[in-house]
Amino acid sequence: MDSNEKYMREALKEALKAFDLGEVPIGAVVVCKGEIIGRGHNRREQSKQAIAHAEILAIQQANDHLGNWRLEDCELFVTLEPCPMCSGAIILSRLKKITFGTTDLKAGTCGTLMNLVQDRRFNHYVEVESGVLQEECAMLLKEFFALLRLRNKERKQGI
Ligand SMILES: [Zn+2]
Repeated sequence: MDSNEKYMREALKEALKAFDLGEVPIGAVVVCKGEIIGRGHNRREQSKQAIAHAEILAIQQANDHLGNWRLEDCELFVTLEPCPMCSGAIILSRLKKITFGTTDLKAGTCGTLMNLVQDRRFNHYVEVESGVLQEECAMLLKEFFALLRLRNKERKQGI
């Protein structure tokens, strides 16, 4: 297994944790010199915090681990293309590279709606790779929303 897939599997493990908690299943890990130094999964519902996205939590953990806000030698792996907030955090933390699994047609800003992390007007440029374990990352989200729709339908019908 190549290392991109290996780390994306770890991000998927985080996404599964979110799934089990009834959160939209998105997971992320920060890798520094071959070591995972930050992990995070979406916790928006549980924490009732709008900013509790997987990437933010993984970046915070990596900052704590290194005792440094700069993550220059680190890479982020995330199952879904980052949103504007997380793209901002990726630029501010000076991450070297991000790899995401599947694109986000509604909020992705690493190439889909726009490309914030590779806009040369900012003072930091991030390498981007996409499509690693794309099907698995997308399938997990699809399953989650199908389940959610089913539950909402059952609720309406009073089952
Ligand atoms: Zn985000």
